[in-house]
Amino acid sequence: MSLFYTDLNRQYVELREIDKMGRKAVDSNQVFIDGLPVPVADRIGEEGRGFEYILHGMNPERILIAAEAIGLGRAALNRATRYANERIVFNRPIGQNQAIQHPLAESWMALQAAELMVQRAAWKYDHGEPCGADANAAKYLAAEAGFDACQRAVMTHGGYGYAKEYHVERYLREIMIPRIAPISPQLILCYIAEKVLGLPKSY
Ligand SMILES: Cc1cc2nc3c(=O)[nH]c(=O)nc-3n(C[C@H](O)[C@H](O)[C@H](O)COP(=O)(O)OP(=O)(O)OC[C@H]3O[C@@H](n4cnc5c(N)ncnc54)[C@H](O)[C@@H]3O)c2cc1C
Repeated sequence: MSLFYTDLNRQYVELREIDKMGRKAVDSNQVFIDGLPVPVADRIGEEGRGFEYILHGMNPERILIAAEAIGLGRAALNRATRYANERIVFNRPIGQNQAIQHPLAESWMALQAAELMVQRAAWKYDHGEPCGADANAAKYLAAEAGFDACQRAVMTHGGYGYAKEYHVERYLREIMIPRIAPISPQLILCYIAEKVLGLPKSY
């Protein structure tokens, strides 16, 4: 496999846009390439080393996506706490109830802990150390913590959580991407089980 970055010549390349639940700012496409001439000058690196180059980018991609998930989780948590302070039911803010407070407090801790794992993975990557386990763990922990925070933000808003006006429904849709991509949570568990714990490969 070789990598290239070349002009999009629609005579040889067909794009079919995929309608998605979120990430509207960036479209995603099915790409069909048939007989596209690629000048050697447009090849990235050496011929046949493309997969190696892609592998090199996978750990930083996981770290980056993890950081994104934490940011999204925190944005959701901020909106949830603001609303919990403002919304009065039975003469008191709903945020005065521990059933509202505790899940949000737990999300804050989970996001903080995940961020430390992100920093650890990023530090190792920056220093040229093997960081596969840390990058995968960071992506898993951050995406799950971010998802919990986004879901709790919707629930904290009650019916308004479903309304676009309060933005948390959008956060919930967007946090699904760091959960699914660039690798599913299940495959991260498989990786940790095999590569870190030394258990037999399961897939
Ligand atoms: C918005 C978006 C953008 C994307 N952008 C890119 C991109 O730029 N480049 C790119 O290469 N990819 C991209 N992807 C693809 C993404 O990386 C994959 O969708 C993701 O890795 C999951 O793989 P899959 O879709 O093949 O799911 P599958 O592997 O088919 O998995 C489906 C489900 O089964 C589970 N599963 C599969 N195998 C096992 C197992 N052995 N044990 C337990 N559970 C299992 C999975 O966890 C998942 O829940 C993008 C996806 C999205 C949603």
